[in-house]
Order: sequence, then structure tokens, then C-alpha cells
Amino acid sequence: MADMIVTIDGPAGVGKSTVAHRLAERLGAAFLDTGAMYRALTLAAIRKNVPLTDADKVLEVLRASDFQFRIADAEMTAAIDGQDVTAAIRTPEITAQVRHVAAAPMLRAALVDMQRRFAAEQDAVVTEGRDQGTVAFPDAPYKFFLTADVDERAKRRKRQLAQCGTEVDITAIRYDMIERDTSDENRSTGPLVPAADAVMIDTTNLQAEEVVDTMMEHIKGERHGYN
Ligand code: C5P
Repeated sequence: MADMIVTIDGPAGVGKSTVAHRLAERLGAAFLDTGAMYRALTLAAIRKNVPLTDADKVLEVLRASDFQFRIADAEMTAAIDGQDVTAAIRTPEITAQVRHVAAAPMLRAALVDMQRRFAAEQDAVVTEGRDQGTVAFPDAPYKFFLTADVDERAKRRKRQLAQCGTEVDITAIRYDMIERDTSDENRSTGPLVPAADAVMIDTTNLQAEEVVDTMMEHIKGERHGYN
């Protein structure tokens, strides 16, 4: 396992990916966007016409497919069986369907296993998701949980989608976000909940760089060798 693991959890649109990627750069660590794994498995099952509510069949898809996740620029790229799906996993359609995979305990277990194998190959890793500090890496030395006002999160997500050329009405984004948060918070396995030892950061009025600075202060405060 990586010696240095930083977990960043929080709800949709709170800025986890941006912050995790920048923090990883500052620490010289690998960056893992675990949402991309849930999204890629959802897409793979849809493409194979497997009902998303049939977790056994979706698990077969997971076993039979070759998933590859790599870092490129500020984003995690994803490929399924050699085909790039980086943009395809981020469409509103996949976002709306991903909760089925996210709610299935056996699929979560398989993906957490994939996340741990990824971390085992790195010296240092910054990983972001919903359950990284609670389930995937409960012994991680640095854990953060980000929050932000839902209107601000909806604005951020709208900007992010617009950058990818997708225009979505902000009311719809806000509605979907609340629905997704509720589903993430209420599932029985790996729910969206802060680890007891996580540092909470409200990012509503902070720029990404300020969030990273705050995290670096915590990390430097507790361990030598990172500056
Ligand atoms: O972070 P992102 O929006 O890409 O995540 C997509 C969905 O994947 C989330 O809404 C959540 O349901 C699920 N997810 C999860 N656990 C993680 C990461 C993502 O359940 N560690």
C-alpha cells in the first residue's frame, strides 16, 4: 500500500476532482478519481445491454472487461477494452444511472478492491470519492471531507459541463444533485458520510487553490518532508 494516502470525500459538485488533482501535483502523488470507476462500470453494463439493477450480471461485466484509468492533464482518463470513454462516462445520462452500481454492495466491494490495488502500486496517492476515508482507506493518515452550499455546487457543475460543450439548465442540475446526494447518503454500504477523523472544509467561498493550501497546512503540520 502507498505510504502516503490522502482521502478526499464529499458530495457531487463540491470540487473534489480539481482539488485532489492539484493536491496530488503538489505532493508528487498519484491521483485517483473513484467516481470514474462507478461511471465506467455503468457505461460498460449499458453497452452490453445488462440491466443495471442486476448486480450479478454487472459484476460479470466488470470481470470480463479491461478497465484502464490514467491521469492526463487535470483529468482521469478511462478506457474500456482499449476504447477511450473519458467523455462518455461524464454525460448527464450516465450521471443519472450511476446510482444503481453505487448502491450494490458486491459491486462496491469489487471497486474498492480495484482502488486498493491502484494505491498498492503507488508511493503516494490522493484519492477522491464518497467512501475513501471510511471504507476504502480507513487507515489513511490524511482525510478531508469537503462541503459547499448546493447552489454554489450547481453553479460549479454547470460551468464544468459547459467547458465540455454540454449546456444544462441549472435548475435541473441542482435537482439531480440533491437526488444524487440523497441516494449517496442513504445507501447501506459505503454511504456518503465523513470519517470520524476527517478534517471538514466548507468550500462555498473558497477558490480551489485556497482549499489545497488549507490541506497542505494540515499535512505539513502533521508530517515532515512535504512542502
Ligand atoms: O464523483 P462522481 O460524480 O464522478 O461520482 C459519480 C457517482 O459515483 C456518485 O454520485 C456516487 O453515487 C458514485 N460514487 C460512489 N463512491 C465513490 C465515488 C463515486 O458511490 N467512491
